[in-house]
Amino acid sequence: MQLDAGFMRNIAMPKLLEVKGLRKYFPIRKGILRRTIGHVKAVDGISFDVERGETLGLVGESGCGKTTASRCLLRLITPTGGNFTFGDEQINLAKLTNKQMRPFRRRIQMIFQDPQSSLNPRMTVADIVGEPLRVNRTVKRDKLQNRIVELLESVGLKSHDMRRYPHAFSGGQRQRIGIARALALHPELIVADEPVSALDVSVQAQILNLLAELREKFQLSYIFIAHDLSVVRHISDRVAVMYLGKIVEISDAETLYQSPKHPYTEALISAVPLPDPKEQRKRELIHLEGDVPDPSQPPTGCHFHPRCRYATDVCKQESPELREITPSSKVACHLSETLELHGV
Ligand code: SF4
Repeated sequence: MQLDAGFMRNIAMPKLLEVKGLRKYFPIRKGILRRTIGHVKAVDGISFDVERGETLGLVGESGCGKTTASRCLLRLITPTGGNFTFGDEQINLAKLTNKQMRPFRRRIQMIFQDPQSSLNPRMTVADIVGEPLRVNRTVKRDKLQNRIVELLESVGLKSHDMRRYPHAFSGGQRQRIGIARALALHPELIVADEPVSALDVSVQAQILNLLAELREKFQLSYIFIAHDLSVVRHISDRVAVMYLGKIVEISDAETLYQSPKHPYTEALISAVPLPDPKEQRKRELIHLEGDVPDPSQPPTGCHFHPRCRYATDVCKQESPELREITPSSKVACHLSETLELHGV
């Protein structure tokens, strides 16, 4: 019997991260007795995986649950339900105690949106980058300085930068310091939460290129969170689009950008700028009416229906399941087979 390459790869290499049905509900309390009167379903049963060396873009407007999902994965907050297994050991991190989580915290690191507020202004760069090494005692004291220099150089900073304080650096350089700190413990997975949103456009490209280089050099995997599809376009192998706590489309990046299957993805893609100004003038920008609805009172049926220009009666009544459309794409839309949507 001959087995295809994809099947063999799945047998040989377990996914680095497998998330199944992850939920995070925040209780809404009222009155003197603080009785629970409902829940905000910030993350409502999402499933995805990340392979070794892969970058998964996680995209959606603010309030769609992407940051809450990433905080659950790092166990900075406790998920309400669902499982997620990590590494070759396939340990279910959702069920671990804080103490049991400790070794996994080294292996999953985070890069934050705002390098200004995530770096302690009273610490030198050497203290900031060296902190995880000291706390985890992974490097002998006499080797600490060399390791800090190595980390700084790997992100394009100089050895003499270690004696300076964060305020002496530009926004892009501060993000490089944050990346050096995240690399200190040889992580396998980095969750980058809008790492370039606070930076100028020209600097954004430099940081994205750096992250791509580091991925190759250290065989890293990323979950790259962003609120628009233009940022994750060139760094992601696959992209998951979230809306109101659910994944509405997940696909390999090329397919998603060229032929989206969910109207929300189509609207996000219409805002991705095109390099050719003529093409840019010709294309239609899809304006989404209103804001993301209140997640404590989501619309009935498909949560996107009040903002969807293709909505029909069935959309108002029945919630679409995330269904496999091709082996590399899943979509949650009743009309995904019939709509002809525009990509880039
Ligand atoms: Fe739009 Fe209906 Fe598809 Fe929801 S299910 S995205 S409302 S067409």
